[in-house]
Amino acid sequence: MIRKQFDELKNSGRLPSPSGIGLKILRMTQSPSWDISDLVSVVSADPALTSRIIKLANSVQSAGVGTVGSLQDAAIRVGARNVSNQALSFSLISGHRTGRCEEFDYDRFWALSLACGVAAGNVAKILGLGSPMEAFTCALLSKVGQLGLASVHSNAYGELLAACKQDGSLDIASLENERFAINSREVTAALMEDWGMPEYFSESILYQRRSLASDESTSKKTIELVLVLRMSATLAEFCLAEEDEQVEMWPAMLRVREDLGMDQPDFEAFSEEVGSEWQEWGQTLDLTTTDVTELELIAQRAEKTVPESAESLLVDGEIDPDKFRALRILAVDDEPVSLRVLAGQLKIAGHEVLMAKDGEEALAMTLECNPHIVISDWMMPNMDGLELCKALRRAQAGRSVYFLLLTGRDEEDRVVEAFEAGIDDYVAKPFNSKILLARVRAGLRLVNLREQVDLEQLTQREKTAELGVLTRQLREAAFTDPLTGLPNRRFSMDRLDAEWECWVKSKQELSVIMIDIDFFKAVNDNHGHDVGDAVLCETADVMKKALRDGDILARIGGEEFLVICPETDTAGALKCAERVRQAVEGNIIEPGGFDGHVTISAGVSTADDSMVDAYALLKAADEAVYAAKADGRNCSRTISRPPMELPRSA
Ligand code: GH3
Ligand code: MG
Ligand code: MG
Repeated sequence: MIRKQFDELKNSGRLPSPSGIGLKILRMTQSPSWDISDLVSVVSADPALTSRIIKLANSVQSAGVGTVGSLQDAAIRVGARNVSNQALSFSLISGHRTGRCEEFDYDRFWALSLACGVAAGNVAKILGLGSPMEAFTCALLSKVGQLGLASVHSNAYGELLAACKQDGSLDIASLENERFAINSREVTAALMEDWGMPEYFSESILYQRRSLASDESTSKKTIELVLVLRMSATLAEFCLAEEDEQVEMWPAMLRVREDLGMDQPDFEAFSEEVGSEWQEWGQTLDLTTTDVTELELIAQRAEKTVPESAESLLVDGEIDPDKFRALRILAVDDEPVSLRVLAGQLKIAGHEVLMAKDGEEALAMTLECNPHIVISDWMMPNMDGLELCKALRRAQAGRSVYFLLLTGRDEEDRVVEAFEAGIDDYVAKPFNSKILLARVRAGLRLVNLREQVDLEQLTQREKTAELGVLTRQLREAAFTDPLTGLPNRRFSMDRLDAEWECWVKSKQELSVIMIDIDFFKAVNDNHGHDVGDAVLCETADVMKKALRDGDILARIGGEEFLVICPETDTAGALKCAERVRQAVEGNIIEPGGFDGHVTISAGVSTADDSMVDAYALLKAADEAVYAAKADGRNCSRTISRPPMELPRSA
């Protein structure tokens, strides 16, 4: 069921997905046979990523184990699969630092996710629960479904966030379910599954809000990870909270302390360790973290203060869309002095400038940082400007970047070749800054137009996704009885026709049970209509639980129900009817002072060749109900038919 909703989100093409090196890792892990050497060769193409993985592999090790110095050793130590999952997660962070949902705080989202990861790694390490590396990865991505919903339904999700911000008592998960028929936790789980993460990651994410003891089928690994995720979520929220909020959160922190089995000084030391590791990782990944308050201080304040009610939040001011728009520009030149001059002029004009020293570096940076404009020199070692442009035009991410080529005197008569390679414009060197900036402005116009078109396409896709959800909700509503939540008459008649067709073709036995509650009018008369409704609901519930999975229960009238039993003969259906009847009889209903039980009369019929259509089958069941009523009610009956006359053999 959830899968369908998720597929709708996926079809929008807006869900977070790995790009660049992350995509390569994903493809590698999806191929049937890959090993450490494949992993090392893919990941080590990105030195920053490599060093992050090595750092992580070392930080999740227990004390006393020697450090690892290479990717190969890290993969051997913590497992190649763990390394590839984590590399994938890191690459997701760099690819999704911003987005279109205005209410969604992307920086805070990643800072919080990182805090979850760091906390989970440490909790798992201290308690010896499962693999700290896996805990880190799973917790880091544990909220990625929020990012998913914000990306696909940026406007609608923004509205939900705004509503929650205004009214702190709202439960975001219920709002998500209501609006999108799927919640962010479910999106997280489905994304993890899609990315080939271990199955118990998704399971743990889904279990985080349920009580664990109630389900014995849950694996030990899942239970351990759920515990780690819960504790790390509290620790992480605490890291990001303002001092006053931290005071309010103190009771939750005390529960974590208890779960960790620590005394106050140990817990203070542990939390500080998590906080400073978080900041360190923030620097490594270029994420903004906050200062960590001393735990002792919070503990003291919490003991003194009675929690105050939260102050109303400030409403954001409006944004002026006509403000100067700074572009992200990648400047590429192998000549350091020219590169610095070029970058300087662009910066003075107010743009954000990235620099690369040759085509190869520029290609990687374009895919990673997604600049609006690339301004590149033509002649460069490794990969020249034209090769860079061609490579970008071949990649999805580089197809729409505005490409401005700098040409030397010798290359000017070859500009036709350059346009054929896909450049948008060129500037002859040496250029003066006015001309360069005029060309950049021309580029800006095109960038804006392209973005507008993209945006319109996206809104269209978003609408289609929302329409899918709505259509399904409508369809479901049309086939559901609003009082009991059971399928309604319309649904059951359609279904019965379908089963009838099946029977006509296969002659596999088909039975139905018509059920009518006894003396129901008296329930209404004696206790009121509301109590009558509650009795109807509870009786529907009891009947549903007494049925097998394959049987279909529907409410077809006031206090009348129908069970369709495919592949069931009369004896089987009678047994089933008896089971339901006994369950109803044995169930004490308490609401509104009713305090008693109701009984039902059931009529069974089975399809046979004397019946012309499904309606005849229903009619036979209806007659059987009358027979049951006539026999004193609270019983099941069937009308036996005279055996058909067999044609004599000639
Ligand atoms: P019997 O054993 O012969 O079936 O007796 P009965 O009283 O159940 O039969 P009858 O068909 O005369 O009465 C059915 C009653 O069910 C009448 C109606 O007020 C009540 N009813 C029908 N739909 C609803 C409903 O949605 N809510 C409530 N509270 N009562 C309903
Ligand atoms: Mg009736
Ligand atoms: Mg009745």
